[in-house]
Amino acid sequence: MARRNRGYYRHHRARVIKRKCKIVKRRFHNGFGKDEPGRFHKGKIHCGCFLCRPHKYLGILNKTNLVKRQSMEEEIKEHHGEK
Ligand SMILES: [Zn+2]
Repeated sequence: MARRNRGYYRHHRARVIKRKCKIVKRRFHNGFGKDEPGRFHKGKIHCGCFLCRPHKYLGILNKTNLVKRQSMEEEIKEHHGEK
């Protein structure tokens, strides 16, 4: 892996922390992580609301799983075609 300079790591650390702070602020109103925002550099914080994850509410596949499913169906078709 390429060695990056301090500015690079500083920038991305700040970016990741800012994003997760915003999600936590919007979703949890108990001040979780307020005194130690640096903790948000690691770990996963996500939002599961309708706008962020519509497939969860609409019962449809998201892009990744749709592509996976299509390739699986093709494989099945190929398999049955060979027989
Ligand atoms: Zn959301």
